[in-house]
Amino acid sequence: MDVYGLIGNPVGHSLSPPMHEAAYEALGIDARYVTFEPAIGSAPEAVSAAETLGVAGLNVTVPFKQDVLDVVSPEPLAERIGAVNTIDFTGETPQGYNTDAIGVTRSFEHHGVSIDGRDAVVVGAGGAGRAAAFALADAGASVHIANRTESRAIDLAAAVPGASAGGLDTLSERVPTADILVNATSVGMESDETPVPAGVLHDDLTVLDAVYAPLETRLLREASDAGAETIDGAWMLLFQGVAAFEIWSGEDGPVDAMNEALRSRL
Ligand code: NAP
Repeated sequence: MDVYGLIGNPVGHSLSPPMHEAAYEALGIDARYVTFEPAIGSAPEAVSAAETLGVAGLNVTVPFKQDVLDVVSPEPLAERIGAVNTIDFTGETPQGYNTDAIGVTRSFEHHGVSIDGRDAVVVGAGGAGRAAAFALADAGASVHIANRTESRAIDLAAAVPGASAGGLDTLSERVPTADILVNATSVGMESDETPVPAGVLHDDLTVLDAVYAPLETRLLREASDAGAETIDGAWMLLFQGVAAFEIWSGEDGPVDAMNEALRSRL
């Protein structure tokens, strides 16, 4: 039996175990997925210990996604983003991936929304914002990054091909002409707030909210009212998990089974 896991702190309420175990069950794979909660600052030791113990693959969540860069070989996208959320131990050295970025592009693809050549606005310049900005730019979008702390957006835009940046005040100018909007801030999580003024939303827009608790955020509600297409954060969570499963197993992920396991718990 193979063991996969997640390191984070805290990880108590993670939805990854049921999502991955649904995949193992659907495909008849003899494996388990467990969570580990190393102390803050000890993620590198936890990764080495997992490798020593023969753990087949690890997901990495807050606050360890940057820390583990010291002990893995990041593939180029993870290196550019500066964060790893998936580690594969099957090679000579632990290989680090960023499947949050894949989760963003696959969420749009799954909903039939093309990215190439479109204007995209990413709100947020933290971990999710970095993943979304690189993912959308690599898929051919022209990306504008708006962040509460403008300097973080400017620093990120300097690394993302063709990107522009500004504070949240630039949303009123950029969103009305945008095709794609991603909320990659934590605004809206467990609260009825939104980082984007409702008045700038429109019916030519597709809006992905990385926040998945609640599933229908105020941003998605107001986007829907404006006639925009909406994609909730569970899709991004699903597809980052599907991508991790595919890296580890080499097989196509059973998307429907994983989606059902995830949504039944949200
Ligand atoms: P993070 O690195 O801490 O970044 C937080 C971001 O939110 C920063 O851009 C921050 O702006 C902004 N922000 C926080 N409070 C704000 C406020 N009151 N007003 C405006 N902006 C505010 O966090 P993260 O890891 O990127 O996660 C962001 C969200 O994405 C979380 O809700 C997380 O659960 C979600 N997420 C979802 C998935 C998924 O698979 N669906 C994956 C990853 C993350 P400043 O730079 O100004 O502080």
